[in-house]
Amino acid sequence: MRHFKHMQASSANEAASVIGKGNALVMAGGTDLLGTLKDEILPTYPETVVDLKAIPGMDGISEDGDDVVIGALAKLADVAESETVRANCSALAEACARAASPTIRHMGTIGGNVCQMHRCWYFRVPDDRFHCRRKGGDYCPARIGDNRYHSIFGDQDGCFASSSHDTAPALVALGAVVKTTKREVPAEEFFKANGVRSNVLEDGEVVTEIRVPKAQKSAFQKFALRKSIDFPVANCAAARLADGSVRVALGGVYPAPVRSASAEAEVVGGIGESSAAKAGDAAVVDCRPLSNNEYKVEIARTLVKRTLLELAD
Ligand SMILES: Cc1cc2nc3c(=O)[nH]c(=O)nc-3n(C[C@H](O)[C@H](O)[C@H](O)COP(=O)(O)OP(=O)(O)OC[C@H]3O[C@@H](n4cnc5c(N)ncnc54)[C@H](O)[C@@H]3O)c2cc1C
Repeated sequence: MRHFKHMQASSANEAASVIGKGNALVMAGGTDLLGTLKDEILPTYPETVVDLKAIPGMDGISEDGDDVVIGALAKLADVAESETVRANCSALAEACARAASPTIRHMGTIGGNVCQMHRCWYFRVPDDRFHCRRKGGDYCPARIGDNRYHSIFGDQDGCFASSSHDTAPALVALGAVVKTTKREVPAEEFFKANGVRSNVLEDGEVVTEIRVPKAQKSAFQKFALRKSIDFPVANCAAARLADGSVRVALGGVYPAPVRSASAEAEVVGGIGESSAAKAGDAAVVDCRPLSNNEYKVEIARTLVKRTLLELAD
């Protein structure tokens, strides 16, 4: 790993102002960032890494009226085990419990999870060997290369990677809001960046907390090749919100999580075996799988059906 300056931030605004000046990145648990620096996967190397870990008061989990408020530095393990999260937004607790391994969940934060870079194997090859679309290049090797884990909903601005965060579909289904040092962004918009950025954060912007509206009921399901530790091949979250409406989101199927309005429409009259199956069909109707990943369509369809059935009374 190359040398970089390590700076301990005392507030999110201080961190934001340092990275806003350029050539600096923020680090929370470091479980994603340090690997990318070690492997030199990015075309540019930061001069300074701004460590957020010691910022006071940014790791809490509390209730604020109809919302659960989770500090960006809350560890995935703490979110997974929180009684408050389990009682009010269990899909998120389950998503955090299913992410990575116990060690990573005790180091990795929810802010880092939503901001993590994509796990596409072309993007992650050390030493910038594939200068792909996500690194600012002009091509995506997955279009014609081995694309078995890639998008089944087409490209996002030329990139066919699939989103790798387990928390993302849960936050989208629950209607969460990501709060930064500059603004509040609905989770549904937060991940809709472009083929180069993994989220809509601008230069000099740091995630400070995530607000999750309390849901009547919610559920999360994940399909991965290994049960112990593995990124999702696909995952799905569904939530019955406080007003009774149902939201469904898929992950691992496109560079950003995909909310499925057509699946939601199938369960407006209630959730049962038949409507959940129709919702699964509706969720994948627009899929455009690549040469090696048609199998993911059936997985996505089944995940939507099973996740919705968990919401049935
Ligand atoms: C072996 C392995 C298996 C994994 N499996 C899974 C899995 O199954 N499911 C899953 O969802 N994830 C998985 N992960 C990813 C893991 O969950 C993330 O590495 C972790 O959540 C990142 O959190 P962190 O605090 O360590 O972030 P860091 O590594 O510190 O940061 C990650 C990125 O987010 C940025 N960042 C961090 N915090 C903020 C903030 N507050 N505001 C703005 N930007 C910020 C950093 O600049 C960096 O780009 C796995 C990781 C590994 C190494």
